[in-house]
Amino acid sequence: ASAWSKVPQGPPSISTDTCTGISEAFKADSHPEKILLGAGAYRDDQGKPYVLPSVKAAELQFVNSGLDKEYAAITGVADFVKAATKLAYGADSAPLKSGSISATQSISGTGALRIGGAFLERFYPGTKKIYIPTPSWANHGAIFEDSGLEVGKYRYYNKDTIGLDFQGMVEDIKTIPKGSIVLLHACAHNPTGIDPTKEQWKEISKAVKEGEHQVFFDMAYQGFASGDTDADAFALRQFIKDGHKPILAQSFAKNMGLYGERAGAFSVVCESAEEKANVDSQIKILVRPMYSNPPIHGARIAAEVLTNPALNKQWLGEVKGMADRIIKMRALLQDNLEKLGSKRDWSHITSQIGMFAYTGLTPEQVATLAKEHSVYCTKDGRISVAGITSGNVKRLAESIYKVTG
Ligand code: PLP
Repeated sequence: ASAWSKVPQGPPSISTDTCTGISEAFKADSHPEKILLGAGAYRDDQGKPYVLPSVKAAELQFVNSGLDKEYAAITGVADFVKAATKLAYGADSAPLKSGSISATQSISGTGALRIGGAFLERFYPGTKKIYIPTPSWANHGAIFEDSGLEVGKYRYYNKDTIGLDFQGMVEDIKTIPKGSIVLLHACAHNPTGIDPTKEQWKEISKAVKEGEHQVFFDMAYQGFASGDTDADAFALRQFIKDGHKPILAQSFAKNMGLYGERAGAFSVVCESAEEKANVDSQIKILVRPMYSNPPIHGARIAAEVLTNPALNKQWLGEVKGMADRIIKMRALLQDNLEKLGSKRDWSHITSQIGMFAYTGLTPEQVATLAKEHSVYCTKDGRISVAGITSGNVKRLAESIYKVTG
């Protein structure tokens, strides 16, 4: 018998509830005006993938410059790591200035989370259990379980208000065992698009402090949420001001459109430069047997975009352009629904932020949308706002109106 004859088929939910599953159904649909709202990637107003002009310019600059393809260090392209941490923590960050942040390049955001999981599993002195929001990005649970951590949940989404269950969240953070690990989405919470306000972040910081928890920020959308990279780093920086020592996963997939280039960073805020040196050494020991060293192409591009003043300015404009298009599509969708006379309150569409909107549509309504209107989104009613364009928003609103009455 084959060595793999006992390998069972994975559960179908892995493909039918997710972006990949809907893409397949979308492809098979022959409706000329079908709409796909699944993709976790930005699309322009023509519905096309978008390569940022600043990214293209940076790439062209070094493609012809005769750079070799030698390996990067275990921790990656040094200029990139330095620029990435500066972007996240801010140029005037105290731990950055005192040289107490340990950082390494990672295989995008997922890789950063995975290194974080492995680091916690090996070195976290408390109970190795990480609490993630309900709901959270679908991959979080799997990443941390595969890292050998236990995964718990805290309340986040309130389906009655289609908003944040702030009270539940804070209550849970206060009642989980002292010294737990808490994962927070730094901005543009995926999948709900619902973020705490600044005042709420301060309360959350207090609750985390009270619980003596270790905080892990996942920042996959810096700049992409509000259009301002500093504004989107508010939570991370507030926690540091409040005396926390976060660990952080960063991704340049969305804010630079570097999806497949896999450029990201993982960092740990340490107590001192000595502690940082110890953590540095252990991260190298973790990374080396996992993948030796990370890919260089995307990191070189991101480094150039972050450190070349002219390109950096251009990039900030382009990030804002993407965020603004998303914000505009939210407004248009809400507007169109209201014009059709929908009696529902659709204000959550514009109060939510980032690539995704949680519409509050039921699984049945989502199924009808696909079957009768050729509009595809995930079963949880999450739509990728990036899939909305000036050209399809009207038909989308009409379809949603028809299935919600
Ligand atoms: N974290 C969150 C919340 C995400 O939504 C994503 C991507 O969708 C990621 C992390 C990681 O993405 P990547 O590995 O492409 O950087």
